[in-house]
Amino acid sequence: MQSSNKLTIYDSWIINYPTISTRSRLFPIEPIGLGTPYVESLTSYLTRLAEAHKVLVGDLVAKEIKTIVPKKYKSKDLFCTKHKSGTANSTGKVAKYLLSALSSLTFRQDLKFLTLTQWSQVLPQRNLIHPTKNWCPLCYQEQYQNNRIIYDPLIWFLKPLEACPVHKIKLQSKCPHCGESLPSLARNSQSGYCSNCEQWLGQNNRNDFPAGSEWDLSVAKNVGELLVNAVRVVEIAKRENISKSFQRCLDQANADGIRSFTKLVGFKKNQVWEWTNGKVIPEFTVSLKISYLMGVSLFDFLSGAEFQCLNYRYRNSPIKHKKSNNNNKIIDLELAEQKLLKILSDSPENPCSMSEVAKQIGCHRRTLTRRFPKLTHQISARYQQYKQETHARKIKEYCQEVEKAVMELNQKGIYPSEVNVSKLISKPGSFREKEVRDALRKARQKLGMRQ
Ligand SMILES: [Zn+2]
Ligand SMILES: [Zn+2]
Repeated sequence: MQSSNKLTIYDSWIINYPTISTRSRLFPIEPIGLGTPYVESLTSYLTRLAEAHKVLVGDLVAKEIKTIVPKKYKSKDLFCTKHKSGTANSTGKVAKYLLSALSSLTFRQDLKFLTLTQWSQVLPQRNLIHPTKNWCPLCYQEQYQNNRIIYDPLIWFLKPLEACPVHKIKLQSKCPHCGESLPSLARNSQSGYCSNCEQWLGQNNRNDFPAGSEWDLSVAKNVGELLVNAVRVVEIAKRENISKSFQRCLDQANADGIRSFTKLVGFKKNQVWEWTNGKVIPEFTVSLKISYLMGVSLFDFLSGAEFQCLNYRYRNSPIKHKKSNNNNKIIDLELAEQKLLKILSDSPENPCSMSEVAKQIGCHRRTLTRRFPKLTHQISARYQQYKQETHARKIKEYCQEVEKAVMELNQKGIYPSEVNVSKLISKPGSFREKEVRDALRKARQKLGMRQ
């Protein structure tokens, strides 16, 4: 036996609590495609964040983001019209506030690359973002078939971009099922699905879509390059870059000066003068056109790099300069009223929204609303009711599908978990709806299972 004076003393345990870093309020999910032309958009990130927390985008914004965003930019501004929600991916205040809210909720510092905020001084907001959602149906289908995460790249939101850089087809802006144009972000947005009829937006057949033009593909290439370089550039692009670039183009294009240059590029002399002097920042499309015509990359043009104009494409340019259209339409108010009355007296199965009605009549929606407030209100109310009824019917169908799936799994001896049930129903995303989750709970209760 060992005597006590020969016992060895070992290292003792450290019983202090380990330091645990502060946890983020929301999951810091990884943004997709950082540093590539297909980097995710901030609205897509927000949609996936809501999906990750199994809540509607509208609820996430109302309960989490609204509390930390200044009053002026609260949730309703993100969703209030079809034409505004895409600005969350742009350069303005909505993008900046949403960005700062999401960064503080997820502790992520790289979310700024999901917007155009880095280019805010060289890209004016006017005509920068598509007013409604645009997408490539082949991209969605490929993401789904290859088991990749379904998301909306930032590049789809830029207004001058009309074709998919990967599939070289024109982007789509109307749902193939309900024919509606969609907001970039809706309360019930779900990646890859129509926020109006909730159907899948991916499609397989390339031949169903028109091909993008040479100009479209040039825009796609240049915009892609800009997004790739965004992560490498430390500083925000400066406003004076634009005037420097215009000066370089002028110097290199023609020794005869501004008059010859303006002829070559097809813009007015005083416009080019203002851009060259830095008094006005040209719209995104103008920067794209000039850089295309001068054979300079858009990134070099906006970042103020020392560039050489390589080739002047102006002679056979595919760019069509828009003619200004100042002819204000004269509206036949009597005829418009008759058409509104006719639309109201018809009782179609799928009533149209007021925007659709305005298109049919060939008149701006706001003009109709101002001139015929009662009739337009009735048309909108009928459409809202139709939407609510369709939604309620769909929820009922989903609940029935869930009940059926639970029975089926139970008969096979498989536990009807949400994951297992999701595999058997037509729209797994429907579990975001409270009624559908309740249906699952009740179906399990019926079989005497624990909740
Ligand atoms: Zn595509
Ligand atoms: Zn639809």
